[in-house]
Amino acid sequence: EESDRELAAEDNIKVMCRFRPLNDREKEYGSSMMCKFADSINFVYWGQKLFTFDKVFKPETHQETVYDEAARTIVTDVLSGFNGTVFAYGQTSSGKTHTMEGDLHDPGGRGIIPRIVDDIFHHIYYMDEDLEFHIKVSYFEIYMEKIRDLLDITKINLTIHEDRNRVPFVKGLTERFVSNRDDVFNIIAEGKTNRHFAVTDMNEHSSRSHCVFSLTVRQENLENQKILVGKLYLVDLAGSEKVSKTGAEGTVLEEAKYINKSLSSLGNVIKALSDGKSYIPYRDSKLTRVLQESLGGNSRTTVIICCSPASFNQSETKSTLEFGIRAK
Ligand code: ADP
Ligand code: MG
Repeated sequence: EESDRELAAEDNIKVMCRFRPLNDREKEYGSSMMCKFADSINFVYWGQKLFTFDKVFKPETHQETVYDEAARTIVTDVLSGFNGTVFAYGQTSSGKTHTMEGDLHDPGGRGIIPRIVDDIFHHIYYMDEDLEFHIKVSYFEIYMEKIRDLLDITKINLTIHEDRNRVPFVKGLTERFVSNRDDVFNIIAEGKTNRHFAVTDMNEHSSRSHCVFSLTVRQENLENQKILVGKLYLVDLAGSEKVSKTGAEGTVLEEAKYINKSLSSLGNVIKALSDGKSYIPYRDSKLTRVLQESLGGNSRTTVIICCSPASFNQSETKSTLEFGIRAK
């Protein structure tokens, strides 16, 4: 009965690109800034090659601006009963976690997730008293095609099932109801602690798994009992860097294969959606399968391509930019 509602957007898949500043290590090595920005803010030159995106964020861009341009509209969408997904894609150290999460405890440094959470509770506070809200969150990661619950460390290989409407969901995944911003921040902190717990080297591990935070807003109109449900997925993807074919072996090589496969499957799904294809290969990876209901159709997808500006990372950044271009 809701099928007549449409997202108010001319274009439901957006690809944006964010360059971070040169870091100390890159400066130390004498690496220079390789990106050049054209007058129009949506172009970037990488070497001689020009890349165009829906939006390009220069290195000095503040977190607030990135949120305003890349994610703010998703809040009104989810409160109107639509689904949405934001991805951060890029090599390790390119700024994915900074973009998605940032510093939870510094208002200026907060990334997209805390700002969305803030905004949602702010909106709800000022909404009609006849509306009753239930907000729940989940937090999990996908590592080597296994789904691990970050809110319950005993759940290390959850499976995907379909509900009556054939919508995929993760069976047994912990869901927590939240009633304010601090509830959510505490859950994120808990999930991160659990993630640390399970592994010996957190930095290594976080670059090899996809980290997915989901938030569902269910609202009931107490006058007419109408229910609206909107769901968001906020995804910090595994590092997109290629492992050197000669050096890597064993687990590292296995991990790299899984990452490659799921990232290219994500690229294929987004490409098929933006080309308006009728067949979308959701089933090719756990990531795209889990996110199915929030990718394409009547939902909004934003991919933020995160890049190092350093000439040192010339080829990784080039392939990152190419992934972004291909997705459109
Ligand atoms: P990734 O998650 O892609 O591995 P991070 O987000 O952890 O990368 O970023 C690596 C480092 O660079 C972190 O110390 C982060 O704070 C810093 N950084 C990333 N993006 C920016 C930015 N836009 N401005 C300032 N510092 C940044
Ligand atoms: Mg990270």
